[in-house]
Amino acid sequence: MSPNIHNALFENLNIDAKYEAIQIAKGQLREEIPSLLGRGCRGFNVTIPHKVDIISLLDELDPLAERIGAVNTVLVNNHKLIGYNTDGPGFLESLKQFDKLNINDAKVLIIGSGGAARAIVMTLAMNGGAKLTIANRTLSKAQELLMHSKTSGRAITLDEAESCLAQYDVIINTTSIGMSPQRDKTPLKLQNVKKDAYVCDIIYNPLQTLLLEEAKAKGCYVQNGVPMFIRQAALAFKLWTGRNPDLNQMNNIVYQNMLKK
Ligand code: NAP
Repeated sequence: MSPNIHNALFENLNIDAKYEAIQIAKGQLREEIPSLLGRGCRGFNVTIPHKVDIISLLDELDPLAERIGAVNTVLVNNHKLIGYNTDGPGFLESLKQFDKLNINDAKVLIIGSGGAARAIVMTLAMNGGAKLTIANRTLSKAQELLMHSKTSGRAITLDEAESCLAQYDVIINTTSIGMSPQRDKTPLKLQNVKKDAYVCDIIYNPLQTLLLEEAKAKGCYVQNGVPMFIRQAALAFKLWTGRNPDLNQMNNIVYQNMLKK
């Protein structure tokens, strides 16, 4: 979806540029970068499995990306490669859609401890204020992530999270449960959720996971992964071009693509 989004934005803003998807095998990044630069590349995104490997090839690393330990966006500036992570800030920005939510006053439960959770936890920790609890199938990974975040939160199991769910104002699913082939599953049961809690699922395919369906039925405010996805792309676009893209246009492109599937 990223080429569709960025190329439409370039066209809309009359920017003479092209965003291409290139497949690079793990371990091949170092060999491929000179050819990218030789073709006049001004920036790029990196995704799995390169988000950590890219760091050793950069000239500069943004402090948040350093704390997250992963890079998804690279800016090429005077032949220097500068690495950023826009996933966490993209998620934080997406919370502004909930106009009554003050994240800095909220008790937040993050479900999962993988790459996306890491970006979100470190961003929320650096933003300050929010009280964080991390729940994960593998408790040791939640404990490690909490320690790394240097916040005074808690790391708990999914069962514990289920039983104390009523404590949380914001619940964020960062696991892949809810995506194919686990579309008929939720990471935890919502019987104890607060009626006015904010439930976010960063999955955007499907647009509505079973978790969001159940949360909506309980009266919670819900958000899927599209707002995060378009905001991480918008922040990358701003780094490369200095321009703020049209979030509505980006949103429409994502929905058109998803509804075609
Ligand atoms: P990851 O690093 O592989 O982490 C996966 C997480 O899911 C781990 O915490 C893992 O727990 C948990 N998990 C997986 N299967 C499970 C199961 N059957 N039961 C319980 N827990 C399970 O993946 P990631 O890169 O963080 O991505 C996670 C999701 O976020 C994906 O669906 C991805 O599409 C989405 N995402 C969305 C955006 C966006 O912009 N909206 C951006 C990035 C990622 P263990 O630690 O116990 O293995």
